Amino acid sequence: MRVIAIDGPAGSGKSTVARAVAKRMALRYLDTGAMYRAVAFAVLRNGEDPADHDYAARTARDIELDVGIDKVMVNGVDATIEIRGPEVTRAVSAVAANADVRRELVSRQREWAERNGGGVLEGRDIGTVVFPDAELKVYLTADPEERARRRAKEVTDLDYETVAADIARRDALDSGRKADPLVEAADAVIVDTTGMSIDQVVDEIEGLLLSVEEQA
Ligand code: C5P
Repeated sequence: MRVIAIDGPAGSGKSTVARAVAKRMALRYLDTGAMYRAVAFAVLRNGEDPADHDYAARTARDIELDVGIDKVMVNGVDATIEIRGPEVTRAVSAVAANADVRRELVSRQREWAERNGGGVLEGRDIGTVVFPDAELKVYLTADPEERARRRAKEVTDLDYETVAADIARRDALDSGRKADPLVEAADAVIVDTTGMSIDQVVDEIEGLLLSVEEQA
């Protein structure tokens, strides 16, 4: 099974890069952040508190999830747009800090890879927890200002300051939590994408993959 792990903080370019790498390598792609967002969405939709540990854990266990490249279905509802909205973005870190939610989603991520004969998975803990034996682990990063600029371009209804504050808050929560915090795997290749184009980053990852294959 061929697994490529792409981890890193918000705005590091993970999604764009992971999609492009998957396409070039003819592998399937999974956005694991969308799964945490989907659980937060389902909890909010039922009017419950995302910080309610047991409720969120139960939601993760019962949720019917279909995370595609361009569409995310949650319990039969198209949640593609809403899972990226400010409400879910505010709530997702609490859900992602829940160890029982993580256990359930990590197991679904492993099953997904088994079913597809591997793939490119992007998230925060792919190389450290989900697939510690991945063929290649990339940790993408970039200056906080550049990450905020990139995100502000994507979410046109929020200004730069709001986006920068949200990224700083999520960085702190994701890195500081007890359960599977965001951290570089010891054997990850760190790619600082500040000032790099998408194509340059993808070329670099392709080069890393070729050298991994040669060594095998
Ligand atoms: O990647 P994205 O920004 O959409 O992820 C949303 C949130 O989901 C992150 O801020 C993080 O709290 C959580 N997450 C996680 N582990 C992953 C992927 C995402 O905790 N593997």
